[in-house]
Amino acid sequence: MNLDSIHIGKVILAGAGPGDPELLTLKTLRYLQQADVVVADRLVSPDILAEYTRPDALIISVGKQYHNNASTPQSVISQLLVTHALEGRLVVRLKGGDVSIFSNVLDELETLSSHGIPYELVPGVTAALGAAAYAGIPLTARGYAASVRFLTSYQPDAGDEKYWHELAHTPDTLVFYMSSAPLDQLVHRLAKEGIAEDRWIAVIEQATTPLQRVSSWPVHQYLAAAAGSEYASPTLVILGRVAALHSSFQWLANSRSREQYFPSVQEQKKIVVC
Ligand code: SAH
Repeated sequence: MNLDSIHIGKVILAGAGPGDPELLTLKTLRYLQQADVVVADRLVSPDILAEYTRPDALIISVGKQYHNNASTPQSVISQLLVTHALEGRLVVRLKGGDVSIFSNVLDELETLSSHGIPYELVPGVTAALGAAAYAGIPLTARGYAASVRFLTSYQPDAGDEKYWHELAHTPDTLVFYMSSAPLDQLVHRLAKEGIAEDRWIAVIEQATTPLQRVSSWPVHQYLAAAAGSEYASPTLVILGRVAALHSSFQWLANSRSREQYFPSVQEQKKIVVC
């Protein structure tokens, strides 16, 4: 047997941050500069892949997009990591934001572990933290909120009464991922459960990118002002008293452009280098 074939590589499961390449951690940057193979999500800045990887690195884009059949199945992604690591390569699995928030990292960890492949997890700036900072919204501002929750609004018009009642009445800041499409239903549901007049909603499109756009309203005015709005992907929603602080502390001007910062899954497939 060729000795090289028994040298197992390693997989670095890392978060790339929400968009601005400068939000990459130094640790992820160092691994990217060394990587033989980079397996990247759709919501990873194209500039990071272009500027911080080795010119001879194999870059594989495995984007997933909500409501999009072009997604790469998770089993294929996990298998890619195994195949390249078993060939002795240093593989960076780069995810948007943080490595574990609303991601399929568990599946990848289980697959790597079952094959005895060494791995490391490297955190990243999750979209909630990037969007809050770049929109001037302190998530747990003293006197406004004592805690923050990261959620996704799965089926706001169905489900548990108690759950929605509690969400409408909690003083916590609520940050909703993957929730811009059902936003009207979400607001409608919270209004129905009696959400307080002092709660605001901030919608942050393409946070931390040059195309960032933030809109905010008192939650009770949202449906009259913005029902039916379509937001750019990706979009994050911050709901709570703190969302009102955006108008006082916004430090970044809204982009006027409606372009997309992140490539669609189809565009990404065209730029795959493999
Ligand atoms: N692991 C990622 C989240 C993946 S789920 C993280 O930690 O950020 C994908 C969702 O994250 C998107 O639907 C959107 O709600 C949010 N998101 C990711 N990047 C974003 C960005 N730049 N601006 C706004 N929302 C973003």
